[in-house]
Amino acid sequence: MNHHFDAIVAGAGIVGAACAASLARAGMHVALVDRGGVGSETTSVGMGHIVVLDDSEAQFALTRYSQRLWQELAPTLAAEAEYEPLGTVWVAADDEELAEAERKSAYYNERGVPATVLSPSNLAEHEPNLRAGLAGGMFVPQDAIVNPPAVAMHLVTQALAHGAELLLGCKINALRRGEAVLDKGVRLTAPLLVNATCGWATDLNPGLPIRKRKGHLVLTERYPDLVRHQVAELGYLKSTQAAESDSVVFNVQPRPNGQILIGASRQYDNEDTGVDKRIVEALLKRAAQYIPALATKKMATTRVGFRAATPDKLPLIGPVPDDETLWLATGHEGLGITTSLGTAALIAAALTGHKLEIPIEPYLPARFDN
Ligand SMILES: Cc1cc2nc3c(=O)[nH]c(=O)nc-3n(C[C@H](O)[C@H](O)[C@H](O)COP(=O)(O)OP(=O)(O)OC[C@H]3O[C@@H](n4cnc5c(N)ncnc54)[C@H](O)[C@@H]3O)c2cc1C
Repeated sequence: MNHHFDAIVAGAGIVGAACAASLARAGMHVALVDRGGVGSETTSVGMGHIVVLDDSEAQFALTRYSQRLWQELAPTLAAEAEYEPLGTVWVAADDEELAEAERKSAYYNERGVPATVLSPSNLAEHEPNLRAGLAGGMFVPQDAIVNPPAVAMHLVTQALAHGAELLLGCKINALRRGEAVLDKGVRLTAPLLVNATCGWATDLNPGLPIRKRKGHLVLTERYPDLVRHQVAELGYLKSTQAAESDSVVFNVQPRPNGQILIGASRQYDNEDTGVDKRIVEALLKRAAQYIPALATKKMATTRVGFRAATPDKLPLIGPVPDDETLWLATGHEGLGITTSLGTAALIAAALTGHKLEIPIEPYLPARFDN
């Protein structure tokens, strides 16, 4: 086996897969290493909502840039990637949330993202199974849905086609100073290391500002046409920002086979991989408050995963100050499917001296080194 590479990417989730593909396309000899399979951890849990968000200018820039990259990638994806530009219907339950829909819609339009405010009757036309009495909402037509592990596999295939090597079932025990140490003392070396191990990044590089944030999603049996778009409550934004407490929000996605994904919950400091029935009940109750028919539907399965959260809700993309070989591609919290492509493109451009399409500064790990 080859032991020296131009770049070693740790983690073959969608972020690591995207980084491996971008670096290999740029001409580097890449090793992509994972202790499990391709896209087998958080990427297999994530909802696959490709969404533009505007909690901050930097979040907007990365999600919008990434959405453009998804639009470019889409024609190359196979059917199993299930890319569908269904659009997002954001639901406003009251006047305060409707005012937020108006603000958000204006913000998006000013920056070239189509978005329209929905009256209560427009909302009902878009999603006839929402309950009556809602204040309205906002429609963002260019948001999309995908099947994340299938896309991760597509990106790995692209990387392999450009000469990358894939090492699965290989746990990395140390990643620093140009070296990845695997089990049985196997050592790989490279002048560039990329830590794309999501919430496990701190196992390899202790001290990073990342906390695991547990999430549950419920998948229903097949109910075609009950939901037509990605549909989420505007209260979502308040709740995902809620500091420490457990939270559930209404956020549903119709899968192409007719099943519906119901999300999502957020919990810090809970590394139990099991399903928490109390959380699942809260999720289903919240969903039924918006789509009453969901209360009578059969649930097929529940998924649990761990997001990688940072204190300022922006990912860590770029070099680590005290190790010139080590770059990070982690901390994407609930947006890592969306922003995987932007993350990889920024890293590849920064390393190859190409023009960066958006500034990388807001995401640099060095912002936490004061
Ligand atoms: C409930 C839920 C819903 C979500 N919904 C969305 C959504 O709709 N849209 C969106 O954009 N994002 C969403 N996300 C977030 C998204 O899923 C993640 O941000 C994304 O999957 C992160 O990808 P990743 O490649 O960084 O992580 P992962 O897929 O977890 O990949 C990390 C990889 O690193 C490997 N690894 C870890 N440690 C080691 C080691 N020591 N040695 C070797 N390999 C190692 C793991 O095996 C794993 O394969 C959601 C997340 C959750 C939990």
